[in-house]
Amino acid sequence: MSVSASNSSLGALSILNLPGVGKQIAKHLAKLDVHCVADLLFHFPSRYQDRTHLRAIRQITPGEEAVIEGVVTAISHPLRGRTKLLLAVEDASGTIYLRFFHLLRFQQAQLKTGVRLRCYSHARLGAMGLEMVHPEFQLIRAGRSAPIDPHLTPIYPATEGLSQYYLRKLTTHALGWMQSSQTFPELLPDVLLQQFALPRLKQALQFVHRPPAGTSMQALLENETAQQRRLVFEELLAHRISLLHVKQVFQSQAGVSLTKEGTLTQQFLTALPFELTQAQQRVSEEIRLDLLKPYPMLRLVQGDVGSGKTVVAALAMLKAVDNGFQAAMMAPTELLAEQHYHVFQRWFESLGVKVAYLSGSVKGQKRTIALKAMAEGETQIILGTHALFQADVYFSRLALVVIDEQHRFGVEQRALFREKGMQTRYYPHQLVMTATPIPRTLAMSFYADLDCSTLDALPAGRTPVTTIVMAASRRDEVMARVREACQQGRQVYWVCPLIEESEALPCQAATDMAMQLAACLPALRVGLVHGRLRAREKEAVMREFKQGDIQVLVATTVIEVGMDVPNASVMVIENAERLGLSQLHQLRGRVGRGAVASHCVLLYQYPLSNLAKERLAVMREISDGFKISQRDLELRGPGEVLGTRQTGELSFRVADLMRDSALLPAVQEAATVMLREHPDKLEPLIQRWLRDGLSFGKV
Ligand code: ADP
Ligand code: MG
Repeated sequence: MSVSASNSSLGALSILNLPGVGKQIAKHLAKLDVHCVADLLFHFPSRYQDRTHLRAIRQITPGEEAVIEGVVTAISHPLRGRTKLLLAVEDASGTIYLRFFHLLRFQQAQLKTGVRLRCYSHARLGAMGLEMVHPEFQLIRAGRSAPIDPHLTPIYPATEGLSQYYLRKLTTHALGWMQSSQTFPELLPDVLLQQFALPRLKQALQFVHRPPAGTSMQALLENETAQQRRLVFEELLAHRISLLHVKQVFQSQAGVSLTKEGTLTQQFLTALPFELTQAQQRVSEEIRLDLLKPYPMLRLVQGDVGSGKTVVAALAMLKAVDNGFQAAMMAPTELLAEQHYHVFQRWFESLGVKVAYLSGSVKGQKRTIALKAMAEGETQIILGTHALFQADVYFSRLALVVIDEQHRFGVEQRALFREKGMQTRYYPHQLVMTATPIPRTLAMSFYADLDCSTLDALPAGRTPVTTIVMAASRRDEVMARVREACQQGRQVYWVCPLIEESEALPCQAATDMAMQLAACLPALRVGLVHGRLRAREKEAVMREFKQGDIQVLVATTVIEVGMDVPNASVMVIENAERLGLSQLHQLRGRVGRGAVASHCVLLYQYPLSNLAKERLAVMREISDGFKISQRDLELRGPGEVLGTRQTGELSFRVADLMRDSALLPAVQEAATVMLREHPDKLEPLIQRWLRDGLSFGKV
């Protein structure tokens, strides 16, 4: 659903009702996602110009935008017969030159010596002195003083066929309509407006479209005015409500309460070669309590790379099995899903639990058999990729779904996974796990539909990874270090990330690197995995690496998430300057999983941008994933950090989670009030602000 449809459902007027708007203009406006008058009111200026006072020509410094008024004292045509014009304009203080390259005939006819002009433009230093290129201009009749603008001039995001002048005219009409409209809705109740000292919507909109003269441009740019805050507040509220609403609807469905204390959990823990950490125990207990409830769990487990999330998931899944149900876990890549499969087989098969694997590469008869066993409930634990979502996949008694490495999946996909519950009379519990910890404020907004648990400690005995940043020209030294580590029985990852747009190139780069390493390190076995290998080939190489038959694994970033080979102690990353912080952190997390000291070598190519320099410095200095993601957020913004920029899930129109984080507690409070006392306002509020209504009702 588009905003248009939504805003029109608020009883708003079609854009065709504004004076002068016909089909053609409407078409242009549609490109800006403006279909009705209310949409136009929510089409906000991206910046402003100050045309509220005349400036003396002499006082203008190059680079400024200014309004001047003066008399044309000279006109010349730099190129004869062309429409190019150079004008000298004088006021009491000095002279400025105006350059025009293409003027309509009637405009040219207007520009004569002796004529008084008011101009607005950016001033610069030209060959003749101060000049303006193609200023907006207005003829001032002799003896008349035209009124100067009473408010700052809004500059709107525009599109072809719609000039700023025209957009201003349209918004003037729209504001007129709004002020007289009885139906244009204020969606925030008076109590909230008072409690949080927020201006009314009409006032806020009037202000952002036409800020009065004297309003600080700086404050406007930073969204600091009370009127802008009101809009930011409403937008954040809409987002939060949409997520909470999803949760509310979801949790009003029937779930299965897993109350039975079977013997599997105890057997599993006894056989496990390590003790659970305090953090693992605490989080497992939080999950256990959720699973007891008769409605579906929605829980996020955040834990840094290597904090041991897999065991936590395994315990929850065993609980389902102990109660006679199935549990499924989805991973973002085949490599990771396969790894989970092998780990779970090792853990569970001795307990008599049937484990199955399903991905896109499981085909033919194997797939048929796997699907049948799942549908009939013969397999109890299913590991796989997003193939688990596909329409022909049926479960017989699915009670729990686990989504590993959540940052790769969006809200939409989570909703899809829930749909699998539709096959039964109840909805499965949902456990979401991420190794991209995000700062609290962001988590509150982005994961408002999830309860959150944090694995805040790593298992004991881990030695922090030492990170070294080096120019790629020193690769030889790195190879020597690799040889040394392997001689001591350690293993090494050598990552060649995506370096071009094409998918084939990184595979080529990885292949070349593998050959180079094999040539330079003849005593070592070098293996290679990349996205183009068949699943079986990848799996074979990975198995050899895990068993220690391969010492150096050259790979593309396919190994980024979740790979677990504790004996690997060196991670070399080529072109590290091209990777984001969280990706680097993920890759680095592949080492430092055993007791020996590990190293991560970040190789870079010149030239280094400032941002890249900063990222590499952060990697060298910080090892805590939470702190890294905080820095990532500051450097790149929330959309990038959450990996949702493309899908637009977290694109706000006026809010900015970093800048506006101080508002979040108030927004949270207001959301609770709205959900409890104003259910009729929820849907219009969400539809006003969220382009597709996000997941409202889509559970
Ligand atoms: P992640 O949180 O990154 O998914 P994993 O679940 O893959 O981490 O665990 C990383 C490694 O730590 C695995 O080899 C796992 O067996 C091991 N591990 C997990 N919990 C503990 C623990 N409590 N003590 C020791 N090792 C543990
Ligand atoms: Mg993991």
